[in-house]
Amino acid sequence: MEPLDNNINNLTQDGNIRHVEINLDALALCLNHAFSSESEEVLGLLIGQIDESQRKAIIKSTLPLTRSNTNSECVEFLSDHFIVGGIHTAKLSKKSGESMLVIGWYHSHPRKAVWPTTADVERQAQYQCVEPSFFGLIFSVYNGSCTIDTMNICCFQTFKQNPDTVKRRCIDVTIQPTKFNFYNLEGYIYLPQLLWEERLKAYIEPSNEELDTFEILEKDSSTTVELINIMNAITRPLLWSLEERLKITKMRVRQLRGLRNFLEQI
Ligand SMILES: [Zn+2]
Repeated sequence: MEPLDNNINNLTQDGNIRHVEINLDALALCLNHAFSSESEEVLGLLIGQIDESQRKAIIKSTLPLTRSNTNSECVEFLSDHFIVGGIHTAKLSKKSGESMLVIGWYHSHPRKAVWPTTADVERQAQYQCVEPSFFGLIFSVYNGSCTIDTMNICCFQTFKQNPDTVKRRCIDVTIQPTKFNFYNLEGYIYLPQLLWEERLKAYIEPSNEELDTFEILEKDSSTTVELINIMNAITRPLLWSLEERLKITKMRVRQLRGLRNFLEQI
């Protein structure tokens, strides 16, 4: 990851987040979602906790969302998205026994720089008016020579330089390896399902123009290709990653059983 610019972490403004930690599984879900489209921005909510004493945000899970529109210049939330996020985190808190909140948002910048656009900064400022600790993550994907190893991530908040000028400030991010939680396993299942539903919804949406047989066949085939691409680009790597984890877990169980047998013989 490239270092972030504009790092103004000495601000004492209310809600100022100094550092963000992201759980490896939550990051994998964000990246899978971001890499699901080379042409359209995707977005979702970041779920976790705020450590008030250290002004640190801890991202434990994510909630990918359907786009309100497919204009790559204009990804934005609907008010329904925050209601869905609130219901989701309430369920998650109950099931996990941990207090979870919607603490931020993420979106992708396919084929463009990672830095927040003017519209991103304006939206972020609006979100911080409601929740001062709220922050944004941006993933720049399919941008020039960027690969999954070298792609760029930007985490940011905004601050008022003067009453009329809002500026961005970038926040350091670290990745935390953690045990595999049920809510991220659910996310692994939910993401391909969400992408399928999005494509199928677009397919069944009535067209303004009457399509001839050739155009209907073209629409059918392009939707089929899109669904196959989701299988190839999202579902298959996720399944592969889960199978690898299962193998490692089984190996660890065998090692622990061996250790237990050894200790019982002492
Ligand atoms: Zn943006």
